[in-house]
Amino acid sequence: MPLTNGDAMADNAAGALDFSKALEVLESEYPQKDGIDVKTLIDSAKNGGLTYNDFLMLPGYIGFPASDVTLDTPVTKRITLKTPFVSSPMDTVTEHNMAIHIALLGGLGIIHHNCSVEEQASMVRKVKRYENGFILEPVVISPNTTVGEAKDLKEKWGFGGFPVTEKGTLRSKLVGIITPRDIQFHDNLDDPVTAVMSTDLVTARHGVDLKEANDLLRKSRKGKLPIVDEDFNLIALLSRSDLMKNLHYPLASKLPHSKQLISAAAIGTRPEDKNRLQALVDAGLDIVVLDSSQGNSMYQIDMIKYIKEKYPGLDVIGGNVVTREQAAALIAAGVDGLRIGMGSGSACITQEVMAVGRPQATSVFNVTQFAKRFGVPCIADGGIQNVGHIVKGLALGASTVMMGGLLAGTTESPGQYFVSHDGQLVKAYRGMGSIDAMEDKKAGAGSKNAKASNAGTARYFSEGDRILVAQGVSGSVRDRGSVTKFIPYLMAGVQHSLQDIGVSSLKALQDGVADGSVRFELRTASAQAEGNVHGLHSFDKKLYS
Ligand code: GDP
Ligand code: GDP
Ligand code: 5GP
Repeated sequence: MPLTNGDAMADNAAGALDFSKALEVLESEYPQKDGIDVKTLIDSAKNGGLTYNDFLMLPGYIGFPASDVTLDTPVTKRITLKTPFVSSPMDTVTEHNMAIHIALLGGLGIIHHNCSVEEQASMVRKVKRYENGFILEPVVISPNTTVGEAKDLKEKWGFGGFPVTEKGTLRSKLVGIITPRDIQFHDNLDDPVTAVMSTDLVTARHGVDLKEANDLLRKSRKGKLPIVDEDFNLIALLSRSDLMKNLHYPLASKLPHSKQLISAAAIGTRPEDKNRLQALVDAGLDIVVLDSSQGNSMYQIDMIKYIKEKYPGLDVIGGNVVTREQAAALIAAGVDGLRIGMGSGSACITQEVMAVGRPQATSVFNVTQFAKRFGVPCIADGGIQNVGHIVKGLALGASTVMMGGLLAGTTESPGQYFVSHDGQLVKAYRGMGSIDAMEDKKAGAGSKNAKASNAGTARYFSEGDRILVAQGVSGSVRDRGSVTKFIPYLMAGVQHSLQDIGVSSLKALQDGVADGSVRFELRTASAQAEGNVHGLHSFDKKLYS
């Protein structure tokens, strides 16, 4: 400013301006920081609501490398993740494969309930068994098991290394081990496994600690290390692939003192969901998400109370909510976390059809401001289209963000890629309240997930109706490669964004927003146009490499 002023320029020429005083002048003459604080931002919408696109954060001071930015954050009152990424409980987004891989990368996948109880429980089991220190309940076979049966078991469990014990149970004498390689080319399916199993076993004695056992496993060059007691009874098993996984996934989401991945799954709030929950708990569930588009209902409140009483060790995330009043009701009922969003999802038409919902930035701010007084972490669910939206959701108070459409195009989501009519590689993505998803359930047809479920109809309250009212659409999203690349891209993006803002952790971001040191600015429509690619004849938007 002074340099455009004639007097100041003249002073400057005379050498009167002391540049070293810039910071002092700033402090003494500009008591207000540039930009606006978060309260002013939200109030500036007057009586309207804001979306993520309506504002920006102003840059701060960079005093650390982006790689120093930490993203640890709670997802429930008791459980903390190392990254803030959560995948939606939708049948085109999260089954066990997504849940496993996002958990390995420090996030959390919520397994959908648009499938039978057995299918969902089996997915939870797969997550819990994926990475283990000691496998305490390994699948064991008896000497009479045939090669054909062993092949079937490999098909069922997804792994093929089975210890063989005299009785075919744990705590019985170990006689051998069979691995996928032993049976792969063995054509006589009726032969007993004893014909092909290895008997020159390297074992470790019960009581060995994980580090010693891993050293033994490393030296043995074998794939498995059975742990036995003094009478050679099998006690547990160690797998070489877990050694590798642990090395490659330092952020993996695990509970303290556990070597297993955290598992989370969604259920509805109907009486039959209590049976579903029991099966999921038996499979090792850690967090249950009550999946409802409008969570402030007597069904959900009763369900929360029931769960907290019957399963005190299980964390419950309630929702969805977009107002303080909704949040208060669920917090009073005992939730350990909340899910925020109504009608902001990319495949969602609730706001159009029901005339109910709320712009997401305003929802996130209002709910999180209230919930944080009770220490209840919130998930900003829906409407996340890029790294910037993630940072904005977190800045407004969310502890984590939930993504559907953004993750539906990754290799780990359910379903196959196909080529769209304009030649793009895409995958199907549909709202759980779309006619497609709801009809699948009613008819028990369509996807393999269709049978014995009412996830979509229950969530959108039209189960008994003759006419299904859609609250979502069904479509496709483009290929985004594997989450093993995409989540690290999101993570690096968030780290760089926080570095620009000048904060080195999510906590520092939220503290800075609360004390007014992190500043915001509204974006007019033309500011939004300016902030996007413009004026180019053509361009290629490659987001990471
Ligand atoms: P960490 O912080 O996850 O490494 O956990 P610990 O400090 O308890 O790890 C002790 C040893 O066990 C180290 O050598 C780890 O590499 C190893 N370890 C940790 N997790 C696993 C696992 O899931 N499987 C196997 N086989 N080893 C593990
Ligand atoms: P395998 O060689 O076919 O048994 O498969 P891998 O060793 O490559 O992977 C097996 C994975 O499944 C590891 O992460 C194990 O921790 C996990 N797992 C969980 N439960 C069991 C079990 O009962 N037996 C075996 N073999 N692996 C299990
Ligand atoms: P996205 O990340 O695709 O923008 O939004 C995902 C979120 O949309 C989900 O987590 C869920 O809350 C919401 N959602 C999923 N299906 C439907 C639907 O059919 N209707 C509505 N209103 N919301 C949906």
